[in-house]
Amino acid sequence: MKTIIEPFRIKSVEPIHFNDEAYRLDAIKKAHYNTFLLHSDDVMIDLLTDSGTSAMSSAQWAGIMMGDESYAGSPSFYRFEKAVQDITGMRFVIPTHQGRAAEKILFSITGGKGRTIISNTLFDTTRANIEFSGAEGLDFICEEGKHPAIPAPFKGNLNTEALKQYVEQHGSAQISMVIMTVTNNSGGGQPVSMANIRETQAICRQHNIPFYIDACRFAENCYFIQQRETGYKDKSIIEIANEMFSYADGCTMSAKKDAFGNIGGFLALNDEALATECRNLLVITEGFPTYGGLAGRDLEALAIGLKEVLEPSYLQYRIRSIEYLTQKLLDAGVPVMVPAGGHAVYLDAKAFLPHISQDQYPGQALTCALYTKGGIRGVEIGSLMFGKYDENGVLIPAALELVRLAIPRRVYTQSHIDYVAEVIIEVFQDRTNIKGLKIVEESPMLRHFTAKLALIS
Ligand SMILES: *Cc1c(COP(=O)(O)O)cnc(C)c1O
Repeated sequence: MKTIIEPFRIKSVEPIHFNDEAYRLDAIKKAHYNTFLLHSDDVMIDLLTDSGTSAMSSAQWAGIMMGDESYAGSPSFYRFEKAVQDITGMRFVIPTHQGRAAEKILFSITGGKGRTIISNTLFDTTRANIEFSGAEGLDFICEEGKHPAIPAPFKGNLNTEALKQYVEQHGSAQISMVIMTVTNNSGGGQPVSMANIRETQAICRQHNIPFYIDACRFAENCYFIQQRETGYKDKSIIEIANEMFSYADGCTMSAKKDAFGNIGGFLALNDEALATECRNLLVITEGFPTYGGLAGRDLEALAIGLKEVLEPSYLQYRIRSIEYLTQKLLDAGVPVMVPAGGHAVYLDAKAFLPHISQDQYPGQALTCALYTKGGIRGVEIGSLMFGKYDENGVLIPAALELVRLAIPRRVYTQSHIDYVAEVIIEVFQDRTNIKGLKIVEESPMLRHFTAKLALIS
């Protein structure tokens, strides 16, 4: 098989600002060992997130000029609405400025004290919005999903036995919904199979529990289903997406992911009464129902992006580029999550830095080392992000200590990725010199965004 090439040519470029290790040592210290607090001009390869960082196509930029900024009834909205409906089949499409705004609206209405929301794995903003409403969020990830080093085709699956058992023990009246994250971002960008979606929905239907999809990376998930699940090889991505959403009562989406948007999101629903309630909240928090928190030009760019993401040559290149980096690291003995996920490579920081205990944040320590060694910015997904304290103030660590290197869509070329692999391998060879960290300042919610840390000497 020949090299899978980037399915685009580059028309406009952005410079990378080069700097050296001494400069970066100083920069990370000034940023309190938190990569969120770095100035992005000081970053050479930015793998902090694939959210809002996509390169838009020339067609999307042309759409920006075509965007209609009418307050009400903009044709850009109707094109956006149709693009969402063609994929999801949902009757009511509610635009929001980001995914979390859709979550805030949905959980303000369906959450609240005494309510429970179940998922394969809730994303951090999703969990925060659920808990902020007073409800509790539960993650029922399948057993394979708990072991970074053991490959399986659908490690994002929900543990349906755990769901059944929970319903048997606690009843279903207080369960607001089951929401399936596709692909499972916090669980390594691992896909969920159609069989698992079907089975989860059947359990939900039997107990009258609404079933939702967190659809940020629906196209990447559909591609994995096409490649890995029996019976889907000859189906198109849109056909697979149509089937997947046909099982759901609604979905939330951050259009900053698989819609190639720099901003945007939506909530899509089939229940008319609930849609009306959501729109009432939308008007006081986001905007009029035909623009939500978005400009007409954003809606136009997203409508085009939602079509582009279904292109087979794009998805083949996208998934292959993640697999390519994962394979290079595996060949060098670096502990990475396998198989490769859809949007990111995940380093297993517990295995990478066994000399740093979980209360010294090995994932964060590794994130800082990648930055100082090569100017690469990733993000910790471990005890800094998900750790809690018990009643004595002792850290309850996260199950996994991962460093996520998210690959922005259509932004970096193969030589950028080769450089990333070289830096990681160099850090790996020098790993015994990496030191742990302690938190010196933190906020009560989503603390990883703003926490300040210090080196433990
Ligand atoms: C990004 C993301 C969100 C939140 O979307 P924002 O646009 O960042 O607010 C929710 N769920 C998942 C799985 C995500 O990846």
